[in-house]
Amino acid sequence: MKRTRIIELLQGSLVGQQVNVKGWVRTRRGNKAISFIALNDGSTIHNIQIVVDLTRFDADLLAKITTGASLSVVGELVASQGQGQSVEIQASEIEVLGTADPATYPLQKKGHSLEFLREIAHLRPRTNTFGAIYRMRHHMSIAIHTFFHERGFFYVHTPLITASDAEGAGQMFQVTTLDLDNLPRTEDGQIDYKEDFFARHTSLTVSGQLEGEMAALALGGIYTFGPTFRAENSNTPRHLAEFWMIEPEVAFLEIQENMDLAEEFIKYCVQWALDHCMDDLTFLAEHFDKELIDRLRFVLDKPFKRMTYTEGIEILEAAVKAGRKFEFPIYWGADLASEHERYLVEEHFQRPVIVTDYPKEIKSFYMKLNDDGKTVRGMDVLFPKIGEIIGGSEREADYDKLVQRAQEVGVPEKDLWWYLDSRRYGTAPHSGFGLGFERLLLFVTGMANIRDVIPFPRTPRNAEF
Ligand code: ATP
Ligand code: MN
Repeated sequence: MKRTRIIELLQGSLVGQQVNVKGWVRTRRGNKAISFIALNDGSTIHNIQIVVDLTRFDADLLAKITTGASLSVVGELVASQGQGQSVEIQASEIEVLGTADPATYPLQKKGHSLEFLREIAHLRPRTNTFGAIYRMRHHMSIAIHTFFHERGFFYVHTPLITASDAEGAGQMFQVTTLDLDNLPRTEDGQIDYKEDFFARHTSLTVSGQLEGEMAALALGGIYTFGPTFRAENSNTPRHLAEFWMIEPEVAFLEIQENMDLAEEFIKYCVQWALDHCMDDLTFLAEHFDKELIDRLRFVLDKPFKRMTYTEGIEILEAAVKAGRKFEFPIYWGADLASEHERYLVEEHFQRPVIVTDYPKEIKSFYMKLNDDGKTVRGMDVLFPKIGEIIGGSEREADYDKLVQRAQEVGVPEKDLWWYLDSRRYGTAPHSGFGLGFERLLLFVTGMANIRDVIPFPRTPRNAEF
């Protein structure tokens, strides 16, 4: 008999029919005559109740039905007499596909701490919380692809191994096949990368942007969606060493329209979560963040506040004057720390904020220089509880200005020749941004730690699973 997923069984249209369900036992309770098994198959956060008449099954089999075991059950789907579920299955056949020894199975009771669950990241998908997170990661991925596809953007695959560290977005992980115990040396004693796999020094990418720009300057609008690696040793609840990034890049788009795109994009994703993930959102709101759903609706309702970096600094300086304390100093030229970003979003404006026109010194060389010669057309989208969720800019399209900026910040031109070529041949205004997928997930799930919105987090000193 063909298996039916629990999400379909719960819709109720199969009542009165024989069905086959397969899943994992969440709980088992009952008395001497009858057992009620809550079975979950991952298709939804909801379990289906299996009603087992104990006289109909042998004791050996029944003893194996414990929390965590996997079962195949055949029986009639009936309207439930009990409270808490609309339908249930009256079991006529039960097969135990896999046992889970109660003496050692770690997920015996409900309510394990998130810290404990990180230590068993291989089993945490079996919990309600991580089932919800995994499903929402899926739905958000589909939302992202749908958003761009509907608008005529093309999905481009940029390389994960790169020879340039021009992006300057963070510390990189080196990729090598050299024998670290026996490194080849050049005559002057340097490591001889000519002997390495690619005959040069290579690393894992920190961003697909530079290659994405090459595609945008041919296809018009593109986006990347792939893993990104940063060896920054920042043990924060918002940083991973391996995370997923979405990077649209659009030809003929200037900074204002880039902001419009970013705002429309995030709102689309949030709306998608409300439209497709309500069961999981309701669970997460109940257990972790009572205001979650209100906060999602709130973001949709109002336009994001847009302002320049200079205006932001003025507001923060005024706050300091009025007695607000920050850990990091505020002055024109300082990078905004997460505490500053969150002050602007959560306390001052009480809505998402897009900050533009940063001092060139604190942004990457490829951002378009403004006429003032001091600021660049960067834009960061700042969100409640998270701080920066998107970083982007209009790119410098002028060859001479770009070369000059690269020299000023010390990016070697020889590594960048192919990137500069795009400004020598058919250059055009263009813009783009990067959205950290897990930062978006933090926002839509209400989870507080980025380690809890990716299946197997990579952070300093942690790559167990
Ligand atoms: P932050 O200041 O928060 O460290 P950043 O300015 O270094 O971020 P960008 O280089 O602008 O980040 O990257 C674009 C987006 O990627 C960020 O807006 C953020 O959403 C996400 N991101 C950056 N670094 C990380 C990380 N280590 N883990 C998860 N997401 C990240
Ligand atoms: Mn940034």
